[in-house]
Amino acid sequence: MGQEKEIMGAEPFKIKMVEPIRLIPRVERVKRMEEAYFNVFRLKPDDVYIDLLTDSGTSAMSDYQWAGLMMGDESYAGSRNFYHLEQVVQDLMGFRYVIPTHQGRPAENILFSALIQPGQMVPGNAHFDTTAAHIRHKKGIPVNLPIPEALRTGEFHPFKGNVNIGELEALLNQEGKNIPFFLMTITNNTGGGQPVSMENIRKAREITSKYRIPLYFDAARFAENAYFIKEREEGYRDRSIKAIVKEMMSHGDGCVMSAKKDGLVNMGGFICTNDEGVYQRCGELLILMEGFLTYGGLSGRDLEVMARGLEEVVSEDYLTYRIRQVRYLGERLMDAGIPIIHPTGGHAVYIDGRAFLPHIPQSQFPAQVTSVELYMEAGVRSLEIGTVAFARKDEKTGETIYPPLDLTRLAIPRRVYTDRHMDVVAEGVIRISKRKESIRGLKINWEPKVLRHFLAKFSRV
Ligand SMILES: *Cc1c(COP(=O)(O)O)cnc(C)c1O
Repeated sequence: MGQEKEIMGAEPFKIKMVEPIRLIPRVERVKRMEEAYFNVFRLKPDDVYIDLLTDSGTSAMSDYQWAGLMMGDESYAGSRNFYHLEQVVQDLMGFRYVIPTHQGRPAENILFSALIQPGQMVPGNAHFDTTAAHIRHKKGIPVNLPIPEALRTGEFHPFKGNVNIGELEALLNQEGKNIPFFLMTITNNTGGGQPVSMENIRKAREITSKYRIPLYFDAARFAENAYFIKEREEGYRDRSIKAIVKEMMSHGDGCVMSAKKDGLVNMGGFICTNDEGVYQRCGELLILMEGFLTYGGLSGRDLEVMARGLEEVVSEDYLTYRIRQVRYLGERLMDAGIPIIHPTGGHAVYIDGRAFLPHIPQSQFPAQVTSVELYMEAGVRSLEIGTVAFARKDEKTGETIYPPLDLTRLAIPRRVYTDRHMDVVAEGVIRISKRKESIRGLKINWEPKVLRHFLAKFSRV
């Protein structure tokens, strides 16, 4: 009896409050999509049944977090909630200085303003879109150094988020003086929510130390990354998530954090650093752009909720449920022969747009088309992370440089949907797959200058 494995997998919570959702009729979905210029960012949430646009800021809070909301100390300077947050972050990550911000982007904006000189290169395993945009905004050059396995979407590799150590060393050797820091994104959002191994973090640390280059984490999904290390990397099975997080962070000089992910909050973020000089420069910029050092663009109550979310996210029960649900959706799709990035990562399932709709050329955005069709088919909102988001014009030749992957992301909000919702999502994708030959591509009629995927307007070709 005592030797048997426990029955596992159900949600480690019960639902105390509900928010109604509904599927509007198909004719209306088609109309709404046309009115939105085939851009899911322009849809109204009331017209969306299951919203997998993003896992960012969409988490359900616990009763412990909601209770914390009532404990806000709204003092302009020295809010007690800041000290709670600071203590939780220091305990979890071990960094000396903690600077709150209202989300991940201001953390990037402030840290990068403090660190990047024009013309400098910032290498990383794979920068997120806003991260790359903020590096460029400081006139820096973002450089992605993924491992080759990251691009082989159907092939298993336990840590597809890893940085290519050989290429990193070559770059530091050549450009070392021109590199202000290295950024390790855990998990790797752009490449499929894929984790980075402890060994890879350790090696990246060794090389960057050799060239005296600081290592910062983009820590948005640090807990999910730690779970994969525990599950897949030798020597970590019996370590606690907290111990793994501490060890990961011990290889860094600081981090930027969007707490809208693994902070389990709707809004929040922070910067950490061990460097007093960097802390001072960031502090000055924080006061200029976000507010005083002890609130950084947030209310006291929001700081409290973030502190509590960070306490909860390292629970192994929670992470087991979380990663299993993502895997469940991935398996349902794979069983039906849908091409997805395999293995599934921590927060989302990614459909390979070009493999899913092979008759649509990349210039006609197959992953965007998949996203549009999924809304019309099942009322599910997903997001293109591919050609619309990342194709760039070569400044000299004017030619379009296409990204290597064209993906439709099904991002799963934390603690929000049940497996039954996942079944509906899978069924929607499978139905599209059955009628895919009749689906046409899209073209862009208007686009803004930066981060065009948020606002671009499309029509059918
Ligand atoms: C979401 C995200 C960001 C940006 O954070 P925001 O809170 O959305 O501003 C940066 N990096 C990664 C890896 C992210 O997932």
